[in-house]
Amino acid sequence: MAFTEPAPTPLALLLLGHGADPESERGVECPGDLPPASDPDLVARAAAAKEALGDRLYILGHHYQRDEVIQFADTTGDSFKLSQQAAAHPEAEFIVFCGVHFMAESADILTADHQRVILPDLAAGCSMADMAAIHQVDAAWAAITAAGLADSTIPITYMNSSADIKAFTGRHGGSICTSSNAKRSLEWAFERGERVLFLPDQHLGRNTAVRDLGMSLDDCVVWDPHRPTLTAEQLRDAKMILWRGHCSVHGRFTAESVADVRGRVPGVQVLVHPECRYEVVESADLVGSTEFIIKTLEEAPAGSAWAIGTELNLVRRLALRHPDKTVIFLDRDVCFCSTMNRIDLPHLVWALENLVEGRVVNQITVDEETAHWARAALDRMLALPGVGAKD
Ligand code: SF4
Repeated sequence: MAFTEPAPTPLALLLLGHGADPESERGVECPGDLPPASDPDLVARAAAAKEALGDRLYILGHHYQRDEVIQFADTTGDSFKLSQQAAAHPEAEFIVFCGVHFMAESADILTADHQRVILPDLAAGCSMADMAAIHQVDAAWAAITAAGLADSTIPITYMNSSADIKAFTGRHGGSICTSSNAKRSLEWAFERGERVLFLPDQHLGRNTAVRDLGMSLDDCVVWDPHRPTLTAEQLRDAKMILWRGHCSVHGRFTAESVADVRGRVPGVQVLVHPECRYEVVESADLVGSTEFIIKTLEEAPAGSAWAIGTELNLVRRLALRHPDKTVIFLDRDVCFCSTMNRIDLPHLVWALENLVEGRVVNQITVDEETAHWARAALDRMLALPGVGAKD
């Protein structure tokens, strides 16, 4: 069964830049001349710039990036793996991160001082990471402290967060987690405290606590930074204080999407990311990280049918990679990560050609104090039993 592109929605097209005024972006995020998307030589220009920079350049491509950008990536992966790859290539002076802002920050934290991390479009943020600002997290911690619970509460922060929030976690004795090791991180935290403050993705926190650690939904409370109404008693009685954040891509899938695809495709297996809502992961057949999704499809038998609940660029590539299997997108509508999609060929060419000319544009830097505490939280994750450099 051939891959069928879901129906585009007007909102998705707007976020992708179609129908928007391209001039409004020019000159805001990218000082200088961005080549027009219609330039037929963009692929050749990117290839020439990459060749000119040689080993001084290492391009990272997140799994959710567009094909036009992924073709130039030296390695592809999820955000943590990519940052580790950048650190493993110290000969590369320029790390061009085709991903979003928090990923480039993580790469800057993990790479050596002489390596410079570049994000081709500064507007490539992450809606989930943006849902936890440091002043909001400090306010939540102040409430936890006022309730007398700071000593018994361990912060666990998902990789998809700003460097500030990672540093907060490091300062307060907590650890970072990825979607692959969230269970181990929570187990580690509960050996040290009575409850966890889980930032910033409420769905990953709830799914892991309830499905993997056997807690009840009532053990989880949600801290809304815009309406912080939880009482000291509610905070004390909770095992999981979940930050009210979510991924705008994975949060779109619903239990109805699952029921709908089961009705449409006989024998389909539903495979979703743990950033999806609780009711979605409960109704799916398999749940796991992006790397787990890729591996599961690699190992699936020919003729099997899969509905995938993750970002559309990746699902589309998986469908092309596995023509002997039916691979479809879980939702009927387009579901790209709009901020990931901001990194396109014109931005990549612009960043690379500037490097060739000796100009470093859109460099992402994390100050030393923030990097120190963020690294402390990352190191605690790497020290967890069973969590290796590849996790
Ligand atoms: S897919 Fe979700 S979590 Fe990932 S960058 Fe996009 S908004 Fe953020």
